Amino acid sequence: MKTIGIIGGMSYESSIHYYERINNQVNQIAGGLTCAELLIYNVNFEKIRNFMINDRWDDIGDELVRIAKTLEGAGASYIAIATNTMHKLADYIQDNINVPLIHIADCVADKCIESNVLDVLLLGTKYTMVENFLIDRLEKNGLNVSVPQKQDDIDYIDRVIFDELCKGEVKDSSLEYYKNVVNQMIEEEGVKGVILGCTEIEMLIKEGDLSIPIFDTTQSHIDAIVDYSLEKKFVKKK
Ligand code: GLU
Repeated sequence: MKTIGIIGGMSYESSIHYYERINNQVNQIAGGLTCAELLIYNVNFEKIRNFMINDRWDDIGDELVRIAKTLEGAGASYIAIATNTMHKLADYIQDNINVPLIHIADCVADKCIESNVLDVLLLGTKYTMVENFLIDRLEKNGLNVSVPQKQDDIDYIDRVIFDELCKGEVKDSSLEYYKNVVNQMIEEEGVKGVILGCTEIEMLIKEGDLSIPIFDTTQSHIDAIVDYSLEKKFVKKK
């Protein structure tokens, strides 16, 4: 079994799911008392969030590289960043470590392709929806990616993530808002599936809430981590 190093804590609400499900799924496959060989470096998200708000991405990059190197030094054979937004720094982190990074966009794109759903709506933080780092990687994998068009929708979706979901709050009113945005994008853009491109959104939107299929980055990432851990899969160079 390979040891996986996870950069977590962004937020800890979603990192809990990584810890629980990776162990659970490894045990389901391997049986007995087997669980995953896992290293989790849980960051203080308040510190990182302040860097984000003040546009100090170089400082976040330095911090995440330091953590990735710490995990590598502690024996991790692969690194996974348990948040979509921090994949803004994925190339920088990968360039500074000697072990492969399991990129969250590749994991969810594989699921979309397996289901033959190529026209997708991406929901996530404003960084993930407005900037190109995740969209480009998804499109490199063969997907055609749309994002909400209205600034008000982008701001609302982002606010729900940081002010509610990252604090463990799940509100019906927020689910209704997200559903309305999705329905509008089905009508206007003809999207055929929705990528939950933030590791907390699965707490809000569940299978069956929408009329089109959901592709969850958290679960896709977890499934891939389990496969790498059990050496069923090797990182593809993209
Ligand atoms: N977990 C979220 C994501 O997947 C947002 C938190 C962050 O900014 O890292 O993007």
